Amino acid sequence: MKKFDPAMAINSVAEISPEKGVNPNINDSATFCFPTGDLMTETFHGETEGYYLYSRHWNPSNMSLCKALAAMEGTEAAWATGSGMAAITCTLMQLLKKGDHCVASMTVYGGTFAFLKNYIQEYGVEVTFVDTTDLKAVEKACKKNTKVIYTETMSNPLLRIANVPELRKIADKFGAKLVVDNTFTPMVFSPYALGAHIVVYSMTKYINGKNDCVAGAICADSKFINDLIDVTNGTAMLLGPVLDSYRATSILKNLYTLHIRMKKHSENAMYLAQEFNKIGIKANYPGLEEHIDHKLMKKEFNEQFGFGGMIAIDLGTAEKANNFMQKMQEKGVGYLAVSLGYFRTLFSCSGKSTSSEVPEEYQKKMGMSEGLVRYSVGLDNDMAYTFSKIKEALKELKYIK
Ligand SMILES: *Cc1c(COP(=O)(O)O)cnc(C)c1O
Repeated sequence: MKKFDPAMAINSVAEISPEKGVNPNINDSATFCFPTGDLMTETFHGETEGYYLYSRHWNPSNMSLCKALAAMEGTEAAWATGSGMAAITCTLMQLLKKGDHCVASMTVYGGTFAFLKNYIQEYGVEVTFVDTTDLKAVEKACKKNTKVIYTETMSNPLLRIANVPELRKIADKFGAKLVVDNTFTPMVFSPYALGAHIVVYSMTKYINGKNDCVAGAICADSKFINDLIDVTNGTAMLLGPVLDSYRATSILKNLYTLHIRMKKHSENAMYLAQEFNKIGIKANYPGLEEHIDHKLMKKEFNEQFGFGGMIAIDLGTAEKANNFMQKMQEKGVGYLAVSLGYFRTLFSCSGKSTSSEVPEEYQKKMGMSEGLVRYSVGLDNDMAYTFSKIKEALKELKYIK
């Protein structure tokens, strides 16, 4: 069987009609006309092809973007949210009700961790955090009332890889849904094809790739998406975090260059990881053979997009990490900023920033050092030049000879 190609899949969703440009027209309406009252009633009770109820539910721009996202993921449907956190929290609140239990990776994104640890438990949902790369621990943590197993395909900042097919088997045993956050690795992994029930994204990162907006997406079967936007009890419809249609239009255009960007991010990250190793600084990158999940990643990934654009190095102390990042920024290597998936290189010290919601005790458990510098490697055309600047920074600080 030919392997699923997420990049070619989005090419199949072209819509052609006489009044349409090559890009879908931008929706500029919050509400929409119906030719008859009957049709409006029908639309309130479900979907009517070609008709839109209200922009918080669906609108033409978001529909165009979501058709492309669903094609990329291989799901029946998708829904676009105003942020990645909205995609995650709506999905979880749709699946988890009072008395339910969730097994979640303890290395999840800081915001997700805080939501699961401090927020949703107030609503009578129990959460157990485990190392989801330890399949035995996951199974042991599952109970009769476990409704969700939640993980990220590539974890932050240690870049561990989730065994999605095996996690699905465990989820099936308990009648739970496997929800996977694929923000770090769009196209690199196709979690739905690997067995996830629902795939969530922060489109703020690679998918949009311009750092000019915050957005999210939920990819799943039509039933789940329709449940989410059900007018009587759908979490997305009732909490209302819909993506603005202007943004949907601009993100759609960026989605069509995602495959080229991912390949270049991966190529540059691999180069950087290898060069760091050559000068005696151990780089953490799943593309390197010595990475603990290198073999697993090779089994699961869509090879043509590479091993992703994230790498991490460990300088031992937060002070050293900070000095180094400042120096790199002065030298034009990139920006000292959180977030990822941008065309310029971004770096941050994980323990004190993006993972600061994760208690130190957990940080230690997952092997995170306070001197960890995480890179989101940019699209630099000449990575050798960029690396020469990184080396200069290290030399000036006397971190290398
Ligand atoms: C950034 C991020 C989120 C949150 O997305 P926002 O768009 O900032 O709300 C969730 N998961 C991961 C893995 C992220 O990197």
